[in-house]
Amino acid sequence: FAPWDEPEAKPLIRFQNVTKKFGEFTAIDNLSLDIYEREFFALLGPSGCGKTTMMRMLAGFEAPTSGRIELAGKDIGKVPPNKRAVNMMFQSYALFPHLTVWDNIAFGLRREGMETNALKARVEEMLRLTRLERFAKRKPHQISGGQRQRVALARSLAKAPTLLLLDEPLGALDAKLRQDTQFELMDIQEKTGTTFVIVTHDQEEAMTVATRIAVMDEGQLMQVATPDRIYETPSSVYVADFIGDVNIIEGRTTPTDEGQIRIDWAEGQPPLFATSSQRFDAGQTGYLAIRPEKVVISAEHPETADNVLRGKVHDIAYLGNLSTYHVELANGTIIKAQSANTRRIARRSFTWEDDVWLSWTATAGVLLAR
Ligand code: ATP
Repeated sequence: FAPWDEPEAKPLIRFQNVTKKFGEFTAIDNLSLDIYEREFFALLGPSGCGKTTMMRMLAGFEAPTSGRIELAGKDIGKVPPNKRAVNMMFQSYALFPHLTVWDNIAFGLRREGMETNALKARVEEMLRLTRLERFAKRKPHQISGGQRQRVALARSLAKAPTLLLLDEPLGALDAKLRQDTQFELMDIQEKTGTTFVIVTHDQEEAMTVATRIAVMDEGQLMQVATPDRIYETPSSVYVADFIGDVNIIEGRTTPTDEGQIRIDWAEGQPPLFATSSQRFDAGQTGYLAIRPEKVVISAEHPETADNVLRGKVHDIAYLGNLSTYHVELANGTIIKAQSANTRRIARRSFTWEDDVWLSWTATAGVLLAR
């Protein structure tokens, strides 16, 4: 069951035609978006696209210039930050250095005046959830970066918010720890059932943790969908290019009698064929987005393939599990092809200057209008 596919499902958060201006500058531009209960939702986009502004409006640090933001069906436009069932975890963690892990987690509960036994039980529960029992008596400087990140998470979850906002929560961690922590974060989100909204500029991180991703650009939503849909069926060249690696081939489109679209794209190169859910007229400009791993590289001419190109291996990136080949065509175009190294080394069978064939089926790519 996916709530975002159900027309009847009620969203937990609802942005309705929200615009946020800073003076003359429009940071968020008439944006509408629904986020559902229990979602792990990622806001993804380049620096300055408005991700943090979205979070700050949810937290109540900024008010929209126009439009409406609802939380659980209620307009929260005028509700101050501390009166919202929303908590925000910052990249810096902002732990109190002089307090123990235990007291850091208890801080918000104490301020709320929670009764001692209930408070104790709640802190213990948070320590268990984040596997920090052994570190309860330590101060922040006596634990590792990953552990500090977990303390910050435990503290943000202690008051059982309906919504937790995470602003680049793993930004301070190194790559390996970051990966492990992503899985922990997903696990904790699932266990608590809290709705998480995460801001990140790391597309792999968004793909890993999120149930759905919103790709933003210049204060607007470019696409909102599950990670696999964003990757497999991007709605624009911008999204295709932003998420993962992609070849973009621009050409003139002609619908064929077989229901495919023919793309004439370069003098002396064979036309390419694609299918598309979008309508393309004869003579229109189209952009074929094809992922490197969908391009098959071979030494012999493939027997059956809708698209076949001839080229020379120009560059190879060996990544252990994968190799990426940059193949140069006669007209100078570089096409990236990626293959999995499932067998040892033997599969690294192409080398620089090798003549190769590239091929893919008409359905392997996505033809986009722009
Ligand atoms: P980053 O990944 O770099 O944090 P972001 O996507 O989170 O970027 P925002 O912080 O939301 O971007 O900022 C969006 C735009 O609004 C930027 O161009 C920024 O300069 C502008 N902006 C944000 N806050 C203010 C402010 N208080 N006054 C003026 N302009 C602002």
